[in-house]
Amino acid sequence: MTSPLARASRSLLSSFRARPISARIVHAAPCSTIAMENTRFGKFEAAPLQANFIPSLQQPTQQVLWIGCSDSGFQETTILDLLPDEMMVHRNIGNMIIEGDLSSETAVRYAVSVLGVKHIVVCGHYGCQIVKAASRNGLQGPWLSKLDSLHSSHKDTIDRLPEAESDRAFVKLNVLDQLRSLRQFPEVYDAAKSGSLQLHGIVYDTHTGEATRLLEGPGCRI
Ligand SMILES: [Zn+2]
Repeated sequence: MTSPLARASRSLLSSFRARPISARIVHAAPCSTIAMENTRFGKFEAAPLQANFIPSLQQPTQQVLWIGCSDSGFQETTILDLLPDEMMVHRNIGNMIIEGDLSSETAVRYAVSVLGVKHIVVCGHYGCQIVKAASRNGLQGPWLSKLDSLHSSHKDTIDRLPEAESDRAFVKLNVLDQLRSLRQFPEVYDAAKSGSLQLHGIVYDTHTGEATRLLEGPGCRI
């Protein structure tokens, strides 16, 4: 027997459609004014994010796997202006894909092979307490070694920058590194090659609300 209160609640819920809260997307500068950055991944360009670069389906079909950081301190998933149920969200420390990490590996394989998502977004964030250029206190195992390896590969560039800038650059490089790791999954590689899956790198600034998209340049495959 269903109580009147339960019926009323169900009725209220059925008429309610959750909408994402639009973050403040700042179109600060045209892409052409932002220099290409040279990395071991090739050249990439940082450009302001267009909020609708992944069009909403306006229906509860999960089309995006979002890989974000556990300490971002913000629901930055809203920057895409999609319905919450268009997105499958996986978070861990440093928004990282670590070989042998059953949780992230299963999330990627499930999203690609079972859900058939059309997009994977890796989103880093400035001010991250995990992905820092100069210190990695408390990190252990593969998380530590992967970030150490990334730092070693870009040491000459990173260590010349002031600390705040080097941390921001490192956050971007870490996003690119995870995109590269994603391509190691046969499921991801095949889907991306066939054109049924796109990978995207985004960096979010919690303080300003600016979201930046990392775009491929010559010699860079994102
Ligand atoms: Zn973080």
